[in-house]
Amino acid sequence: SRVYLNGQFLPLAEACVPVLDRGFLFGDGVYEVIPAYGGHLFRLDAHLDRLGASLAAVRIGNPHDREGWKRVLQTLVDEAGPGDCSVYLQVTRGADVKRDHGFPPPEVRPTVFAMASPLHPPPRERLERGASARVMADIRWARCDIKAITLLPNVLLRQAALDAGDDEAILVRDGLALEGSASSLFIVADGILATPPKGPALLPGVTRDLVLELAQSHGRPWVERDIAEAELRCADEIWLTSSTREVTAVTRLDGVAVGDGRPGPVWRRMADWYRACKAALRSG
Ligand code: PLP
Repeated sequence: SRVYLNGQFLPLAEACVPVLDRGFLFGDGVYEVIPAYGGHLFRLDAHLDRLGASLAAVRIGNPHDREGWKRVLQTLVDEAGPGDCSVYLQVTRGADVKRDHGFPPPEVRPTVFAMASPLHPPPRERLERGASARVMADIRWARCDIKAITLLPNVLLRQAALDAGDDEAILVRDGLALEGSASSLFIVADGILATPPKGPALLPGVTRDLVLELAQSHGRPWVERDIAEAELRCADEIWLTSSTREVTAVTRLDGVAVGDGRPGPVWRRMADWYRACKAALRSG
């Protein structure tokens, strides 16, 4: 199947970007990852809204209107075949003729790249076992609400977690637990589902919003509020959510069992609601 680059669909091996591209030189760009189930892009409008917000925040003009994006992304999904896939897209500030921090002149157009890859949702037994996480100091910048391709802190934090034998890092800044290195954070405490409020310190997760919507529509109490590191450590349940990893229960935190060390009852209900939501999309 082909990839999309600057207005063309072409084989991956033929998709080339100049070495002076500002994505390559500066990490000067933004991205999205959107899952597609049974050929249907999941929560597409929410992803395109967030893309628009990221582009506006870094002052890159949006290269496509909504219908334009939908055509490009749906073509990639259609060509990917019948299985589930995830679409990665990125927009950089383009390639100038020299390396300079200041923005290039307006004739330099953004570089637009998108591709679909096979998506294997977490297998049932992995979901049933849960994930292990490690608390780490958040070393990222002050605009984590922008989905920037500049992911060096996230890469180092994830690898530090993997090196410790864990699946994900949970990031703490000023005593507050914010999110994972590539996932949003929830806890269940006193029967109430809680997640930190949106703001510059974390990415506004599309899956996070869906989980809150599902909680709301099923009458499960929830709240957006700060989560202190100490509360994280004594939570009854901890979840991490993302478009590709869905809703995963954390069953070990820093080597210590969360609750009884198995995914909790609130997670189980949410996982069912989430699965039903995906199934509804599949059946059109
Ligand atoms: N937080 C960070 C830092 C992320 O990189 C991601 C996704 O990759 C998320 C949260 C989850 O966002 P979403 O649910 O939109 O995939």
